[in-house]
Amino acid sequence: FLTLGIETSCDETSAAVVRGGRKVLSNAIFSQIKWHEKFGGVVPEIASRKHLEAICHVVQKALEDAGVGFRDLDLVAVTCGPGLVGALLVGVSYAKGLSYTLKKPIIGINHIEGHIFANFLESDLEPPFLCLVVSGGHSHIVYVRDYGKYEVMGRTVDDAAGEAFDKTARALGLGYPGGPLIDRAARCGNENAISFPVAHVRGEDLSFSFSGIKSAVLNYLNQRRQKNLQVVVEDVAASFQKAVVDALVENTLKAAHIKKVETIALAGGVAANSKLREELVKRAGKDFKVHFPPMVMCTDNAAMIACAGYYRYKDGFRSDMALNAHATLNLF
Ligand code: ATP
Ligand code: MG
Ligand code: FE
Repeated sequence: FLTLGIETSCDETSAAVVRGGRKVLSNAIFSQIKWHEKFGGVVPEIASRKHLEAICHVVQKALEDAGVGFRDLDLVAVTCGPGLVGALLVGVSYAKGLSYTLKKPIIGINHIEGHIFANFLESDLEPPFLCLVVSGGHSHIVYVRDYGKYEVMGRTVDDAAGEAFDKTARALGLGYPGGPLIDRAARCGNENAISFPVAHVRGEDLSFSFSGIKSAVLNYLNQRRQKNLQVVVEDVAASFQKAVVDALVENTLKAAHIKKVETIALAGGVAANSKLREELVKRAGKDFKVHFPPMVMCTDNAAMIACAGYYRYKDGFRSDMALNAHATLNLF
């Protein structure tokens, strides 16, 4: 059973062929970073246009890499939200055209559900498990009871973890996207140099708040500059990263104890963070197994969408030609 996945929710045009849900035959990713980085973030209008230019080539590449043709496909799975609506529409329209032409079923997939499903690719992980979803726009602690059965136990009340990384990197003049750049700079820094506070959300044990730490970094930088004091970028990066990772790991472990799971999984772009991976493994100790998706499948890619599509299809879900793109979309 071959699923073609299509992902265009943000600034990666991606297409993938996945066999039987978990075996990645190809995962073509066209990144638009070089068109967006000079603006310090993703420009929605540029993203839509670049998706439009790239989509046919990227799908062709995915088929070629997998050594299959259009007629071999059994299912088309496409991200239908959340994300940039103009960007999503490119993937959704393409997928609808393809499904109609090939007379093959189509299924719309929630991008965040896709990030969670990245954990199944090339692995034998089975639900139930606890999943920390940390991406550019989301920070959720999700209990995955079964395929497609979720309980959101905690979430950010303001900025997402990835957003905090990106904004802090920007303040430090590191560039875009900030996550990998902070990760790298932090390796040469002292994480105990500066104490940045992460706010606890009153009455909500498992929620996050990351907008305060971003402001704390900005305040620190302004104060140092006013006093003409030197800023050690690596120390700021390491101290910021430590504060965010500590908050993520602490709440995730709390939730894992509540649900008495065996395994904790990571998903979303921030799951690529080396400190987060290291800290979670260390503090999970012998209490929990820790599972990560392969590195390239943490950030946006279509293999995870194909995987989610396969399991939804097996559960009897189908979309039709009325499928639309949604800027916001809940996990349920
Ligand atoms: P969403 O999935 O919420 O719609 P998105 O698709 O833009 O948002 P992803 O592609 O999942 O987000 O992840 C991108 C985010 O991951 C960016 O904020 C980026 O800075 C962050 N990121 C990537 N690599 C790392 C890393 N090594 N350390 C920290 N953050 C990282
Ligand atoms: Mg991206
Ligand atoms: Fe994403």
